[in-house]
Amino acid sequence: METGVEERLIIKFVRTGKLRISQFPNLGIPCEKCGANIKSGRLCGKCGNSLVTDLQAFENEEKRLTEIQGNDKKNTYYMKDEQKG
Ligand SMILES: [Zn+2]
Repeated sequence: METGVEERLIIKFVRTGKLRISQFPNLGIPCEKCGANIKSGRLCGKCGNSLVTDLQAFENEEKRLTEIQGNDKKNTYYMKDEQKG
């Protein structure tokens, strides 16, 4: 399929920023995660959002761990204080 090869080339050019997908109104590039047709970037809105959600979850987890560690330190310190006093 000749068009298939051309489409791939176009997708490559779009991904590398050499072409704008808006120049090809009938063409979309597949989302790298789910394959949905998108017009720019690498991920569709849905996958982009879930990526953001993943990132936020990761950041929240980091924050939570930091807080737990902070609390542990406080507790340890407090306990030491109690033992002393
Ligand atoms: Zn997607």
